[in-house]
Amino acid sequence: MMTNFKLGIFGSGQLGRMIVQAAADYGIACHVFAPDAQNSPAGQICNTLTQAEYTDQDALYKFYDSVNAVTSEFENIPVSSLQAAPASLLVSPGIKALATAQNRLNEKQTAKKLGIPTAPYWKITSSAELSSALEILNAKAILKTAKLGYDGKGQIRTRSGENADHLWKEINTELAILESFVDFKKEVSFLIARNAKGEISLFPPTLNHHENGILDHSTAPAILPHHVIEAGNNYARLIAEHLELVGLIAIELFLTDDNQLIFNEIAPRPHNSFHWTIEGCKTSQFHQLVRSVCNLPLGSVSTKGKWHMKNILGQSVDELVSNYNNAGKYIHNYGKNEPKTDRKMGHITWSE
Ligand code: AMP
Repeated sequence: MMTNFKLGIFGSGQLGRMIVQAAADYGIACHVFAPDAQNSPAGQICNTLTQAEYTDQDALYKFYDSVNAVTSEFENIPVSSLQAAPASLLVSPGIKALATAQNRLNEKQTAKKLGIPTAPYWKITSSAELSSALEILNAKAILKTAKLGYDGKGQIRTRSGENADHLWKEINTELAILESFVDFKKEVSFLIARNAKGEISLFPPTLNHHENGILDHSTAPAILPHHVIEAGNNYARLIAEHLELVGLIAIELFLTDDNQLIFNEIAPRPHNSFHWTIEGCKTSQFHQLVRSVCNLPLGSVSTKGKWHMKNILGQSVDELVSNYNNAGKYIHNYGKNEPKTDRKMGHITWSE
């Protein structure tokens, strides 16, 4: 049925690589498009490669002409690059999902509109605005760039009374968000897949532990009160439908002591905290993404036991090798050459 089907992927990192691996399981070939595609994690194993800027109209035209559906492994590809696709082509995650996820203010406004609790926040475009927001806030806060922040980058932890001029210089952006600091007991992520027919699939939620703003490890399925899981699933449904999602959206939330979920951010793509689904769910997040964009039926996400996922960063890359001797550990090496500090080199999963 899927003979000659080709899936286009924007981006060439580890998420793209794992999409290529899942697509191959269904006999689907992948065409990767990225500015740094050569020898990249996805570029090493895809069937076709285009190395070009995301704004290269000629390359985009040829790319779209060569694929049956397209998805993006990261949210910062220009919206105009997706808009350049012919109307007949299925484009994931969709324009609305992509545009919303590119800007933290849009994300928070969307959550608010849908009735999903957020921490108090302020839009900041100047040192003067920052100064008055810090005064009203009167507590701990985080100042974040509205765009292009990831893995704790583009963020400054602060508190009321701090010098707004210094902070504004340090964050060095035109548009930022000041968020009140949430005193959470846990960080939780939810993941939903949705296809073009509007069918959805909800993965079991995951508990996450960050170190220096970077995900360190996850455990799943998260053991949480029933009403918390219901609320998270409901938020995921609301967001996916509102954004007319085709593909995946992960929602990161904080869980407070009184079991309230507070929205943090969304990612309209496979998410690091759900890598455990490769071994832990009947259908992994990557397989479900491929199914949802390639018109295949959505698969079961049932799971057995408790799963752990540990990220391996450049500074601890030896752990990938040392775990080969460890029965029961599943090793994923992303094929990156240079083990730089804080660079995600691979991950390991295991169950109990
Ligand atoms: P983010 O890039 O927004 O996901 O932030 C990275 C990490 O910083 C989160 O996973 C949290 O551990 C922490 N963080 C971000 N925003 C807040 C907040 N408003 N209150 C407390 N911790 C936060």
